[in-house]
Amino acid sequence: MPISKQPYTGKEKKFVEEGVYGDNFIVTSVDGFLSWARLSSLWPMTFGLACCAIEMMATAAPRYDLDRFGAGVMRPSPRQTDLMIVAGTVTMKMADRIKRLYDQMPEPKYVLSMGSCATSGGPYWEHGYHVLKGVDLIVPVDVYVTGCPPRPEALIDGVLKIQDKIRKESLFKLKSQEKARV
Ligand code: SF4
Repeated sequence: MPISKQPYTGKEKKFVEEGVYGDNFIVTSVDGFLSWARLSSLWPMTFGLACCAIEMMATAAPRYDLDRFGAGVMRPSPRQTDLMIVAGTVTMKMADRIKRLYDQMPEPKYVLSMGSCATSGGPYWEHGYHVLKGVDLIVPVDVYVTGCPPRPEALIDGVLKIQDKIRKESLFKLKSQEKARV
């Protein structure tokens, strides 16, 4: 956009027109800046349940290098994470643990359901009496990634979708919603 058409006002416009800042000048909202910072530094929980977890590990390894998207720092504690990737079969025995881990994550937090087992019970859908038929029965899921197992590219696509969601959010609105819930 030409400088003369940019939405600056008063003194700011004068400085931009005079080139006081040169090219070293950006205008953004606090929300936009915070969202950019949050989406560029996702910390997923180190957490795998079955075969899908192998693909998740491959996604973080050098060939696919999840770090390129700012989401490669897997953390061992739920208290340090903002993204839960549910990678694998959710048995009834594990369901309680998953819920507890989710509750221990600080807000704002996100859940990605990876593969058909986590999303719907997968191959155990009909006869797997021991398998939960979808992790969204216990935690709110933001993005579903299809496949059995999904390839690393599919998981990366899911992470990008989570980042898109964060980009559109307002941290201030999320905080006030959180307060209203308490
Ligand atoms: S979706 Fe397929 S690959 Fe993933 S945990 Fe289930 S059976 Fe394994």
